[in-house]
Amino acid sequence: MVEKGRLYVVSGPSGVGKNTVIDKAIAGRDDICFSTSVTTRKPREGEIDGEDYFFVDRETFDKMVRDGELLEHATYVSNGYGTPKAFVEEKISQGMSVISDIDVQGGRQIKAATDYSVLIFIVTPTMDELRKRLEARGTETEESIRSRLERAKAEYAESIDYDYIIVNDDLDTAAEEMKAIFTAEKCRYKNREFYLKEV
Ligand code: ADP
Ligand code: 5GP
Repeated sequence: MVEKGRLYVVSGPSGVGKNTVIDKAIAGRDDICFSTSVTTRKPREGEIDGEDYFFVDRETFDKMVRDGELLEHATYVSNGYGTPKAFVEEKISQGMSVISDIDVQGGRQIKAATDYSVLIFIVTPTMDELRKRLEARGTETEESIRSRLERAKAEYAESIDYDYIIVNDDLDTAAEEMKAIFTAEKCRYKNREFYLKEV
């Protein structure tokens, strides 16, 4: 028997720092890998296809949905986003953990469909700080910032089924909190029960 992998779903408003915290928390680890999502959104400057996202057109995205290639999918501010199923299932079956940045609609679908998911919600200390981060990232128009802040309020309300909340105020502290979750989940009784059976 081996300890099983988990699918860590990381949600929270756009600009809250999900990818920044994930990168810091998994740096140098070989037991957790990042799942790259598919999106119909246009790449932002500096984003790399296959690394930040698999950027696809609407037709391709809809076909992936129809063919059952996505573990979950959702529309976020008029674009489609989804998690490729084959990658996640292969890694989990190998005992690896997978982490992905997924919105709350997708997180809830994953929780209902799998018994290996852990849902983490990230917040900023205040909404004002969230606006500042979106502005500082410099990748969104004023209109897009407004829609993302509106969406953030709805996401807070929808995060009720989540397992953990990380406050991303100081980045190092937030990454430490995420690592603590990895450790706690690894030590869960259910995950290590097989040690008792070998006695
Ligand atoms: P998300 O993946 O949630 O959309 P990003 O990881 O792209 O967010 O972060 C949004 C912006 O906020 C980036 O410019 C990032 O450098 C900045 N950021 C992330 N975490 C912090 C933090 N703890 N303090 C200040 N700025 C941060
Ligand atoms: P962004 O456009 O800022 O990269 O992401 C917008 C939103 O889409 C974020 O809330 C992010 O969590 C979400 N997202 C990214 N990838 C996926 C995915 O594969 N599935 C779902 N449901 N949401 C995703």
